[in-house]
Amino acid sequence: MLLIFLGPPGSGKGTQAKIISSQFSLKHVSTGDMLRETAKSGSELGFKLAEIMSRGELVTDDLVNEIVQETLSKPEYQESIIDGYPRTLAQAKFLNDILPSKYIVINFNIDTAHLKARIESRFVCKGCGAIYNASFTPTKKDGECDVCGSQEFEYRADDNEQSLLKRVELYQGPISAILDFYLKQNKLVTVDASQPVEEVTKYIVESIM
Ligand code: AMP
Repeated sequence: MLLIFLGPPGSGKGTQAKIISSQFSLKHVSTGDMLRETAKSGSELGFKLAEIMSRGELVTDDLVNEIVQETLSKPEYQESIIDGYPRTLAQAKFLNDILPSKYIVINFNIDTAHLKARIESRFVCKGCGAIYNASFTPTKKDGECDVCGSQEFEYRADDNEQSLLKRVELYQGPISAILDFYLKQNKLVTVDASQPVEEVTKYIVESIM
C-alpha cells in the first residue's frame, strides 16, 4: 500500500502517519524529518537547510525530489506513507512519475485558527519522535513518552507564530493545483482533520481498506 498525506503544518498528518504506519506495517517517509536529520549533521548543506527551515521556507524541489526518489527506490519502502511531500505541483508530478499507478492521497483539511492552537503547544519526544500537544494530546504520564518512555522532549525550532504563518501561506499557495491534480486522477480522499485523533484515524482506515 502507498499513501500520501497532504496537510498544512499542525494538521496532524505526522501523528496519523505514525499510527497508520505501525497499524499497517508501512514505512513512514517524512521529508521534514529527513531534512531535520540532515540539518543536524553539521555539514555545510545541514547549516543551509537549518537556516531555510527555521525561516519556514521551502527547500528546493530538486533537493527534496532527490531525497524522496533515493528513499523510495529501496525495496523496503515499496509500502509507505509519504508525509510532507509533495508541497509543489512540480513535486506532485515528479512523484507521480516515479510511483506505481496505485496510490491513495489523504488530504488533511483544517482551518488556520485550529492550526495555530495546535502548533503553539506542540512538543516532540527526543527519543522516538512521537508528537504531543500540551492542550489536546498530552502524554498519558506527566513528563514521560507513551511510546518509548523517554523523559526528554523538545520544541521544534520552526514552531513559532511567524514561521507557522509563513509555512501555512506557502502550503496554501500551490495546494489547490495539487489537489486538482489528484482529484482528476480519482486518488483523493479528504478528511476533516479538526476532529479528535481517534476519529481521524478511523476515517482514514475506512477509506483505505
Ligand atoms: P514538516 O516537518 O513537514 O513541517 O517540514 C519542515 C520543513 O522542512 C518545511 O518547513 C520545509 O522547510 C522543509 N520541507 C519538508 N518537506 C518539504 C518539501 N516537500 N518541499 C520543500 N521543503 C520541505
